[in-house]
Amino acid sequence: GRKPLVAGNWKMNFDHLEATYFVQKLAWTLRDARFDYRDCEVALFPSFTSIRSVQVLVEADDLKIRYGAQNVSVTNQGAFTGDISADMLSRLGCSYVIVGHSERRKYHPEDDANIVDQVRAVLAADMTPILCVGESFEERRQGIELDFAVGQVRDVTRDLNEAEAARLIVAYEPVWAIGTGMVATAEAAQDAAQAIREGLAAQFGAKVSDGVRILYGGSVTSRNAGELIAMSDVDGFLVGGASLDVDEMARICRLV
Ligand code: 13P
Repeated sequence: GRKPLVAGNWKMNFDHLEATYFVQKLAWTLRDARFDYRDCEVALFPSFTSIRSVQVLVEADDLKIRYGAQNVSVTNQGAFTGDISADMLSRLGCSYVIVGHSERRKYHPEDDANIVDQVRAVLAADMTPILCVGESFEERRQGIELDFAVGQVRDVTRDLNEAEAARLIVAYEPVWAIGTGMVATAEAAQDAAQAIREGLAAQFGAKVSDGVRILYGGSVTSRNAGELIAMSDVDGFLVGGASLDVDEMARICRLV
């Protein structure tokens, strides 16, 4: 089966001191609870400025918590002021990079072509892209949310080969559920995850689609994580606000 993943997207929160404090406290809390990382992966997504500090701590204490970046440049080096390359991230021990988050799509000129290039850059640096998709309220109102999310995945993955597609993680994050407290119902999350998996099966075959982890994101808390994770195609979470509270993050990990 697919190993569940609880990913905490800190967005633009926590400096490097807060980040290292959080990582230590989460590691202690999970250890006290005898949390088994073989049953569930835990990953955190700090700001770029905190990743090196998290790396030093994780390596020094041999922690099982993984980490990654919230964004990446499509180019590997050169005259791109302010950008961070995939190689830089992999050399900091990043396992994952979030790609195409709706906040990036909204506040930065990130379109599908750019997101495709980010996925390629992440794969080339031997990390795992977490590709974010999900409809806004308008598509939901029109009843086209499943086609929309499936189409977003297809638009980004159409030129990947099977081996590349097998390395993806998809996060279904309906935009209307992000930061609003309006979590999708477990059934709606399942319907979307299932539709995305069927889309991947049509493109890459069942062997690939059965292995791809599909996360749900959008107002996940310890109060709703249990029923969401019970759904057969939901393989974990991309947690925003609740991932800033270490006890809450630990509770969600333990529910998965
Ligand atoms: P919230 O959990 O705060 O709704 O954010 C979800 C999200 O965008 C994670 O990437």
